[in-house]
Amino acid sequence: MQCPVCGQDCVTTAHDILGSLETVFAPCGECGGRTLDKTQPPPDLTITPPCPCGKRFIDDVFVHLYSILVEEKILSKEDPLKKVGMPLVHPGFAMDGAPYLPKNSLLLLSQLVDEPVAKKLYKEVPEVRGVVKCGRFVPGAVDVDLSIPPRVYELLAGCDVRADVFYTQHSPVVAYKQQSLIHIEFPRGYDPKIISVGVHLRHALPSVFVDASCGVGTLGIIAAAYGVPHIIMNDAWYAAAFWAAFNLKVNSDSLLGGEIHILEDYASMASHPVVREPRRIAYTEGKQLVEVYQGDFRNLPPLIPERDRILTIIDLFEKGDEALNRRIMEDWRSRVGGEVFIP
Ligand SMILES: [Zn+2]
Ligand SMILES: [Zn+2]
Repeated sequence: MQCPVCGQDCVTTAHDILGSLETVFAPCGECGGRTLDKTQPPPDLTITPPCPCGKRFIDDVFVHLYSILVEEKILSKEDPLKKVGMPLVHPGFAMDGAPYLPKNSLLLLSQLVDEPVAKKLYKEVPEVRGVVKCGRFVPGAVDVDLSIPPRVYELLAGCDVRADVFYTQHSPVVAYKQQSLIHIEFPRGYDPKIISVGVHLRHALPSVFVDASCGVGTLGIIAAAYGVPHIIMNDAWYAAAFWAAFNLKVNSDSLLGGEIHILEDYASMASHPVVREPRRIAYTEGKQLVEVYQGDFRNLPPLIPERDRILTIIDLFEKGDEALNRRIMEDWRSRVGGEVFIP
């Protein structure tokens, strides 16, 4: 599949990703590697080359990155190894041990790098897939009223499209995203939100499932795997809505057949990063209707058919604001009905 960010083939189907998990970060018999204390500077700046199998232990990759950052005077030799930045591997999934990284599998998030240095890291360290300049905030739309302009990180080199794998009681879900525009998730193999959705789906047996702020679509795809006949996913943030649509294609094996139509391309959606009136971004044809909208979920009710069993999940950024959540749920119940829950 063509990557919508870099145009290369850095995106594959869920089937291919899932088939690779057992071996992708596993060492061969020859792989070495030293485990280092990340709170200290590395003991020396020797660059260990990748094993002939093409992989290198993550700590050795970090020493390579560290040595370039010291050379570029971004770090001093007294800085701890962890100051290099935050590693996000592709694909991300719950792992037992630290990974041995193949080529193109590491996205580095750093607050310190500039573009020339990022390009150098990308060029000289084969495991690096992309370099993103991050900040101390969560990227994307942040408030229910959509009044605060969304903030994003910046892709400086390579490509920042990567996938996380979430396990459910049905098939696992592969969730691609452009990381500079979407909040970071860490799949742990036991995700309370996913378990909660499964419990509600089994209990409510909905004919319509609505995910009011769907992010990149993980929970909607889970509902599809449970065989819910009609699924409506929505997010006001263009990157979330686009990747939710894209992830339908990636996880097409989890849907009940039918063609997936994506109605807008990523670049054109960037011209309307946040919209209030829902725009349909994607839909499926076949036994199951899955729709993705970009919009304010409070404008969704007219688009929801009146059916017996509607199950809605409202997962707001402002989780701590109980009064706000209660108000939103009451409003939704009075306009849509059915069962509503916050995961
Ligand atoms: Zn790409
Ligand atoms: Zn090896």
